Amino acid sequence: MPLFSERLALLSSENAFKIGPHIREIEGRGRSVVKLNLGEPDFPTPAYIKDEIKRQVDLNNTRYADPQGILSLREAIAGQVEKTRGVGVEPGRVVVFPGVKPTIGLVQQVYLNPGDEVIYPAPGFPIYESFIRYVGGIPVPLILKEEDRFSFRGEDLARLVSPKTKLIILNFPSNPTGAAATKAELGEIARVIRKYCPPEVRIYSDEIYEQIIFDGRGHHSLLSEEGMASCTILASGHSKAYAWPGGRVGYAVFPTRKEAEVFTTLNINYFSCVSPYNQEAARLALEDGRGRGEIGKMVEEFQRRKDFVLSRLREIPGITCLSPEGAFYVFPNIEGICRNLGVFDLYEGLEEGIRRRTSAATIFQMFLLYEHRVASLDRRSFCFAGAEDQHYLRFSFAASREELAQGMDRLAEAARDKAGIERFVAGGENLFS
Ligand code: PMP
Repeated sequence: MPLFSERLALLSSENAFKIGPHIREIEGRGRSVVKLNLGEPDFPTPAYIKDEIKRQVDLNNTRYADPQGILSLREAIAGQVEKTRGVGVEPGRVVVFPGVKPTIGLVQQVYLNPGDEVIYPAPGFPIYESFIRYVGGIPVPLILKEEDRFSFRGEDLARLVSPKTKLIILNFPSNPTGAAATKAELGEIARVIRKYCPPEVRIYSDEIYEQIIFDGRGHHSLLSEEGMASCTILASGHSKAYAWPGGRVGYAVFPTRKEAEVFTTLNINYFSCVSPYNQEAARLALEDGRGRGEIGKMVEEFQRRKDFVLSRLREIPGITCLSPEGAFYVFPNIEGICRNLGVFDLYEGLEEGIRRRTSAATIFQMFLLYEHRVASLDRRSFCFAGAEDQHYLRFSFAASREELAQGMDRLAEAARDKAGIERFVAGGENLFS
């Protein structure tokens, strides 16, 4: 009798967390690593939020709370979504979760039967793909391409929709590409959904980076498009905008009250509720005018860092890089580096078992980490589908200007270090994470 269920083998993970032990190993040898792998703002959580958490704890607001989320927070979320998306939302359709992440797996559990198809972005946040087979679904990747700004057209979606399509996952602004769909693109996507999808199909729109947008763009949401309120699940949360990932506050707005009730039942089954003192602070974050100001300052700093990193990246031979439209990641194309350093040949020379677990970009990522001490994430960390032909790394600019400058200096050195990468691959260790 095996210890673990067969289903478990179908679950994947998030490399952003798996790279940690490698970094600790290098640091354990007394060598510093520039960490540009992190998916969380490097700013402190704003003081008014921290004060409210402490105040709520002192008020003994530490008991179980409404499993759907406390009403005052759901009202604040409904109000914010109404204001920003121009659609009516009532708090009965809002559910609060410990972060956006749990909604990804729960949505798949709730809506999919075995054999149902899920269309999801690749490259994309890895948890979307991780869950699909685990719950018996069929992955249908929508491969995003640099030449389309890592966005997509209605016709790209139309090509993938079938009678088996049950769930379509969107993420704009995107992790890892930084792409934000234009209003016109969302209009086209909505047209395709209206035309080809029956009313039971659900669109899961992960808009966690909605407030981190660059170069004067606004955030556009599928929810605002005609007919989309009746099929779209809008997910967002406090981890990024309020620099508060440890608070574990996320939420989803469902098309109907009935669906919100189903998710509330799942909350009861899995975790009962989100801590009420954090929920009160999350409510304040949405209602308090200071929130806007703090986010504005953070986004201005991200904008400056983005411009800086981009100019440094574009100086490195072998790199091309689009300017991210939102979030806090750059996603440079490193195919030229791989070619210059002979990484494709090194990859081909590996034994089959290792080749299956790595890629040219992964080899360069691990070389950059172990020999030049910069932590990044490879294309394979963002859904496996399509990764074999796409040679990218993700660098987070949620790091200080000094760290970014040092990281880019080291990357430029690594991009020239042909002898180093040959030695690294010949050593045969740490060729994947
Ligand atoms: N969706 C995306 C696209 C993300 O990048 C992240 C966090 N990196 C999440 C969801 C999960 O965020 P949370 O902290 O709210 O669970």
